Amino acid sequence: MMIAGLYGCAALRFVRTFRVFRADYLVRGKHSSCDVAIVGGGIVGLASARELIRRHPKLSYILLEKEKELAFHQSGHNSGVIHSGIYYTPGSLKAKLCVRGAELSYAYCEEKGIPYKRCGKLIVAVEREEISRLKALYKRGLQNNVRDLKLIDAKEIQEREPYCKGLLALDSPNTGIVDWREVALSYGKDFCEMGGTVKREFEVTDFQLTKESPESSTDGLKYPITIKSSKEPAIHCSYVVTCGGLYSDRLSQKSGCRDEPRIVPFRGDYLVLKPEKHYLVKGNIYPVPDPKFPFLGVHFTPRMDGSVWLGPNAVLAFKREGYNVFDFDPFDFSDAITYSGVQKLILKNITFGLNEMYRGVVIGAQVKQLQRYIPALTVDDVTRGPSGVRAQALDKDGNLVDDFVFDGGSGAIGSRVLHVRNAPSPAATSSLAIGEVIADEAEKKFKL
Ligand SMILES: Cc1cc2nc3c(=O)[nH]c(=O)nc-3n(C[C@H](O)[C@H](O)[C@H](O)COP(=O)(O)OP(=O)(O)OC[C@H]3O[C@@H](n4cnc5c(N)ncnc54)[C@H](O)[C@@H]3O)c2cc1C
Repeated sequence: MMIAGLYGCAALRFVRTFRVFRADYLVRGKHSSCDVAIVGGGIVGLASARELIRRHPKLSYILLEKEKELAFHQSGHNSGVIHSGIYYTPGSLKAKLCVRGAELSYAYCEEKGIPYKRCGKLIVAVEREEISRLKALYKRGLQNNVRDLKLIDAKEIQEREPYCKGLLALDSPNTGIVDWREVALSYGKDFCEMGGTVKREFEVTDFQLTKESPESSTDGLKYPITIKSSKEPAIHCSYVVTCGGLYSDRLSQKSGCRDEPRIVPFRGDYLVLKPEKHYLVKGNIYPVPDPKFPFLGVHFTPRMDGSVWLGPNAVLAFKREGYNVFDFDPFDFSDAITYSGVQKLILKNITFGLNEMYRGVVIGAQVKQLQRYIPALTVDDVTRGPSGVRAQALDKDGNLVDDFVFDGGSGAIGSRVLHVRNAPSPAATSSLAIGEVIADEAEKKFKL
């Protein structure tokens, strides 16, 4: 029985893998046209593609991703937390989508058998002056309809997290952890199983609106948009949705959009707790956030593979999608540094920025920050871990753009293109809810 089950699973995996492969194959042949193209194989693009094909199964779809693998960038390099929606401005799309997205994510993981843990989270005030901010956060969470929140005192904190020291904490039992990459790949499987095509290693370099059908096209003007890539034959389609993460602004500009908000890459470096010290941390432990910054501050996060990550810090990266301290791209660097938004952000926050850089380089400084929550932690308990790069949208006055931005572009092409220009963190938690909103927007705009 068990062996039959194993064979069954292997066969299913083969069929699914074959479908993805077949999808790549088909598009290399003459079938290089479709109704809707989605650019970006991160969790937002995949959730949107899945939702669109669910609602409109008669249309044909292709998802284009520049990397060899799906979910390679932010969706595969993050803390792996299912956020409950406490932090965000009440009434904002970001708040609504996080709360709905978390519920949908739990239900999705149940349905698909994707492992997750509802291990909870404590947001801990360690200094008196943080208490009023923590209470305000509690109210905000209630306004956002986050379930089961409560404030707990120092004794209850130690019952929950024996090594954590704090004065007061906000207990969020519905915060959880999951491997978001696995979730994103599962959305991709759903999309392919419903008939969608995934094309990897296709870097979109331009969009053009064709007034006359190309000679090679047998589809006439049915597919007036040409999506170009430097290496692959072009794809023709009727409508495009872009979800380009760290390149979402550049993709938008290709269809004549304004040049702001601009995406600024912030790299976050994690430390990893040595296995013999895992007992120090049970669930997620977070600081009371600094209201000036949407990054949530260094936190303790258990992972689905049993490891525990600490951090990350947040430093301006010199390369979009650059995961190492010394990664440098002259174009990305000059693009960022000549942008008035970046210059103003640096001027306003120079001390914060330098501190974050220092903490990225000197492990002891990062550990000192973490010891505010777990005093027993020492430098010997940690090693350097992986990094992630966050797509932070920034306006020209140096303000961080905190909510969703959709864009189209100018001229006739604008009516056929929907750019998700900013899908702010925690877009992994919110992904299924974001997919619904993007499908709504696409239906309105493209009259699907
Ligand atoms: C350090 C860190 C920690 C985080 N922690 C959490 C967390 O705990 N919980 C949570 O919910 N969220 C978290 N987030 C946020 C979350 O990971 C992101 O909001 C989410 O993954 C964004 O998904 P995306 O699809 O928009 O972007 P991405 O995953 O970056 O995907 C964009 C895709 O577009 C592709 N692309 C770009 N340009 C082109 C082009 N020209 N042609 C073709 N393809 C292109 C890229 O290759 C990429 O695959 C974290 C983020 C970071 C960086």
